[in-house]
Amino acid sequence: MRQAFFIAASAALLLLPASPAGAERILVRDPAAYRAATRALSPGDEIVLANGTWRDFQILFEGQGTAGRPITLSAETPGQVILSGQSNLRLSGTHLVVSGLVFRDGHSPTEEVIAFRRDSRRTASNSRVTEVVIDHFNQPDRRREDRWVSIYGQDNRVDHSHFVGKGNAGVTLAVIRPEGQPQPNRHRIDHNYFGPRPPLGSNGGETIRIGTSEESLSDSATIVENNYFDRCDGEVEIVSVKSGANIIRGNTFFESQGAVVLRHGNGNLVERNVFLGNGKANTGGVRIINRDQTVRLNHMEGLAGTGFASAVTVMNGVPNSAINRYHQVANARIERNSVIESRRITLAAGADAERSAPPIDSYFERNLIAGTERTDPFRIDGDIAGIAFTGNVQGEVAEPRLDRGVERRPIEMVRAPNGLLYPADPALAEVGAPRDLSPTTREETGVSWYLKPGPMAETPAGAAVDIPAGSALDAVGEGGTFRLAAGDYRVSTPIVIDRPVHLSGAGDRQTRIAFSGDSLFRIEEGGRLSLSGLAITGTGAAAIRTSAQPMIANYAIELSDIAVSNLPGDVIATTAATFADDIRIRASRFENVRGTVIAAHSETGGAGLYNAEEIEIDRSDFRRVGRIADVFRGGRDESTFGPRFTMANSTVEGSGAPDAPALLLSGVQRTEIDDNRFRGSGPISVTHSVGSPDTRIANNVFEDTPLPQVTELYWQGPARAVLTGNSQ
Ligand code: CA
Repeated sequence: MRQAFFIAASAALLLLPASPAGAERILVRDPAAYRAATRALSPGDEIVLANGTWRDFQILFEGQGTAGRPITLSAETPGQVILSGQSNLRLSGTHLVVSGLVFRDGHSPTEEVIAFRRDSRRTASNSRVTEVVIDHFNQPDRRREDRWVSIYGQDNRVDHSHFVGKGNAGVTLAVIRPEGQPQPNRHRIDHNYFGPRPPLGSNGGETIRIGTSEESLSDSATIVENNYFDRCDGEVEIVSVKSGANIIRGNTFFESQGAVVLRHGNGNLVERNVFLGNGKANTGGVRIINRDQTVRLNHMEGLAGTGFASAVTVMNGVPNSAINRYHQVANARIERNSVIESRRITLAAGADAERSAPPIDSYFERNLIAGTERTDPFRIDGDIAGIAFTGNVQGEVAEPRLDRGVERRPIEMVRAPNGLLYPADPALAEVGAPRDLSPTTREETGVSWYLKPGPMAETPAGAAVDIPAGSALDAVGEGGTFRLAAGDYRVSTPIVIDRPVHLSGAGDRQTRIAFSGDSLFRIEEGGRLSLSGLAITGTGAAAIRTSAQPMIANYAIELSDIAVSNLPGDVIATTAATFADDIRIRASRFENVRGTVIAAHSETGGAGLYNAEEIEIDRSDFRRVGRIADVFRGGRDESTFGPRFTMANSTVEGSGAPDAPALLLSGVQRTEIDDNRFRGSGPISVTHSVGSPDTRIANNVFEDTPLPQVTELYWQGPARAVLTGNSQ
């Protein structure tokens, strides 16, 4: 392709039929021609990139257009101009419009893919990026931070664009307000499709951020409206507002973990948005901090988030807060929201010795809280005397917590033509979200010429392939579903798993795999591995290990009815810069494993990185294993939902030692260890560091085993872990 560009260069300045009033429309076929054509642009000029793949092309688009005669950069055919390799785009000047480009198969050589500036002195204003696609255009190392779109300057617009699959650290789209630049921005971010962004496994997975704490007491006046957020799960903040006078309006948040967070800055408005959680874990609504925030007319349905990711969260503040901590909530107006089939509304959230300033002068009015569960979603973590409750209506619940300003009565809900639920009773017409909401759909956002992703495939496609006993397992690397017969299989070099693979055996230790290489399976980019009905033994360092290279895509491992015995190393060994959505072990047995069954402590240090979002062990037996699991997350930021760890209905014998914990969890956000039996083993060791960890160790038997040890690294208050019903 490079050579083709070179040959074409001499004839590259192809003048197309002139646009009106002397402006030029120029089709360029290579970067040299582009540079020649854009050296001195005039209002009304149109630069057109020829269809094809432009590799390693760093575009600088600079000029001074006018409102009536902008300067445009477009694709010969929208969607047919691909920027790949090390490419990016900078805009500088005024009245510039860019459209039709696709960034994929590469990454930016800088910290931004699209920047509304050339450098710190030359920004773009009154400019627009529309119908642009950025698809998995990720830095090769997930820990390296960049932003896909950085909006500098003033009065810019990003609209009808498609952003999908950001896998490395850094906000997808940020409004940048550098220190010392407190002027309003008045940007508009509308009708964009924000496609799936998987959990990042650290801070920095926001989909949108507006400003930073330093300039947060000034107004950005940015509008985010009619966008579709599809499974944006990066971290706890989907939209992080860190400035004033912004409007978040008419967006749809579909199955997205996290919340719209009014983190810093005052006088923001969040209205007429539709949040649809479908019961997915950690789906939240709006979290309120600071002064003069209005949250009204929103529809929130099926939100399963709790704590800081409740449907509505009103935080406690820090007295005389530092700019980057939590300012007290004052004059919050929470009006006419519908909170339906949602797990939680948390008031005075995060109240503790530091966050001791309760919300004041605030209003919670005419909200509708409905659901088929009789469990009250309200949680009141501190003093709420500063919130006036009037005219709210709630369905009947068993043990209501709010004692004023809420009428409780049966509420029959009916789905309206707009797809949303409303009370059947006309007397409730002025309570909750209004009838005229028109939820923004996927189809109304992004571009028409680029496919939006469907549901994620949980199991590999295609029919199962039988592999006879004694055969090599090389075919497994091709991906798909495989059935192994009863009998023995030998593997001498690791099987690379870089796509979904399901491998099942005859069960009851009838299908035996012995491996002699470094590992039996090595997970690489794109891999997801599910094993069932196999007996595994081997001489290598780990039965399953993740890549030695950074991985962008999250992987998953599921072991069901697996027996692992006589292993000198680990069963599952994770590596740095790789991340599991989940690791699940069910109905499996581990015997004589010298290492750790789940070693998830390869990220170290205080940056808040970790290896796996969710680890689950159920109905499994551990005999003479070095350690069941070792899970570590450093840092103190409250940015992630993980790691989460559950272990239930399992037995542990002769594992660990009195001075070597059988189970080691540090920085885990949610721990549930229930109904297990430990015998002659080392203790459970839990260390609380980050945020508000939720630890429950209940109804376990610790026979000839020390009781669990819980250490608080920073917390000064009463014990936070719940240890109950355990016996020794
Ligand atoms: Ca964050």
